[in-house]
Amino acid sequence: MARAQGRRWLRHISTRGEAPALGFTEVMLAGLARDGGLYVPETWPRLTHETIAGFAGRAYADVAVEVIRHFTGDAVGEADLATMAREAYATFRHPAVAPLAELGVNTFALELFHGPTLAFKDVAMQLLARLMDRALAARRERRTVVVATSGDTGGAAVEAFRDSSQIDVVVLFPHGRISDVQRRMMTTAKAANVHTIAIDGTFDDCQAIVKGMFNHPAFRERVRLSGVNSINWARIVAQTVYYFTAAVALGAPRRRIAFAVPTGNFGDIYAGYVAERIGLPIDRLVIATNVNDILARTLSTGTYELRDVVATSSPSMDIQVSSNFERLLFDAYDRDAGAVRALMDSLAQSRRFSLTARALAFIRALFAAGRADEDEVAATIRTVRRETGTFVDPHTAVAIAVAGRESRDPSVPMVVLATAHAAKFPQAVEAACGERPPLPGWLSDLHQRPERVIALPADQSIVERFVAQASRAAQEGALA
Ligand SMILES: *Cc1c(COP(=O)(O)O)cnc(C)c1O
Repeated sequence: MARAQGRRWLRHISTRGEAPALGFTEVMLAGLARDGGLYVPETWPRLTHETIAGFAGRAYADVAVEVIRHFTGDAVGEADLATMAREAYATFRHPAVAPLAELGVNTFALELFHGPTLAFKDVAMQLLARLMDRALAARRERRTVVVATSGDTGGAAVEAFRDSSQIDVVVLFPHGRISDVQRRMMTTAKAANVHTIAIDGTFDDCQAIVKGMFNHPAFRERVRLSGVNSINWARIVAQTVYYFTAAVALGAPRRRIAFAVPTGNFGDIYAGYVAERIGLPIDRLVIATNVNDILARTLSTGTYELRDVVATSSPSMDIQVSSNFERLLFDAYDRDAGAVRALMDSLAQSRRFSLTARALAFIRALFAAGRADEDEVAATIRTVRRETGTFVDPHTAVAIAVAGRESRDPSVPMVVLATAHAAKFPQAVEAACGERPPLPGWLSDLHQRPERVIALPADQSIVERFVAQASRAAQEGALA
């Protein structure tokens, strides 16, 4: 987009059409739009086939800059972006950052778990923390990030924000309901700006408390509250990068590539949609769900209908509402914000909505979907271990199982996103295949590190009091 002096400034608009258009930095700091919608770019940037072909053989951080700069425009200087990308991806323990491994005939695993907390959320969070820190430092502003986590997001946020000068991070997790590895990845950080709270309750209780804070204007303002959950637009942008690196390694853009994605909140797979919109030739995006299959049901029936959440061995996909799906709906309805508002009103009132035939056809043109139950997940972990010698985690196994059932053009490579390291879910993997996957060597002392955590009841005002004490933004505000 052109602005005065030829500056590139991409405007972002809300899927519900009743919030002001914002630039990249404002969208990143805001999270949710004020009208309850999600921000998307007003127009899609476009990468040519020549540009994409030129990604072949380049370092991951270089490709990241080449893709992401189309979204950040002048909001982030290119040299700064390059520095941040280099630093973010230097935290990964594999030189390729996101390597491909062969799983079977023309089927590959895209290993997104070589970051500090062994799950794909590191890919986006490591960059997001640096982008936010830099933007806030320029404004001499502090913020407090509060995260509710069912396991992976909290660890990724702690690792990413622990060196931040501008941001304090507080993580709420449900006491006794996450794995030891997941808990220790949050509670063993030594940084003074990191605070972890074991809530006496469920993940939904944690999420309700955080939502309550965002809906409490005086508190929100006092601690300068920010969100980094999967609806954060900068996270989506960072996730588009590995679709490019994987596809190019397998012959794109000459060749079309299919992806199967273990899906919960629809952030990761929506990033694949964005990659397609901006020019990557994608054959198909396969939504893989566990028995919490709202999206698989929607694609087969055209009706999005909430049901109760069932706990599974792939907890990061145990969701009821797939928040980022709203972004896809916006395009499926030709960017008619009124139509999206009507769907969301229907969801709030009657826990369901039905898609028009046209919107459903739009989605089905690129997406397929399937679900895997717990038996299939265990059988998949067992089979992959036997046939390839590698361990896969339960989230990845959901996608391998679903991809295996897809009818396919054998000449189109299928890339399964491997979203977590098997050692992050040792009980489930051992129960499935009889062997316990070991932690990587650099984490082998995790169980000896001292933990720092406070236990609090599921009570919003008690948690708010703790957050306000931990928040430098609140302390400085009180002095001013
Ligand atoms: C968060 C997560 C997912 C789901 O990703 P969404 O973007 O919410 O769809 C899948 N697998 C793992 C291991 C995760 O941590």
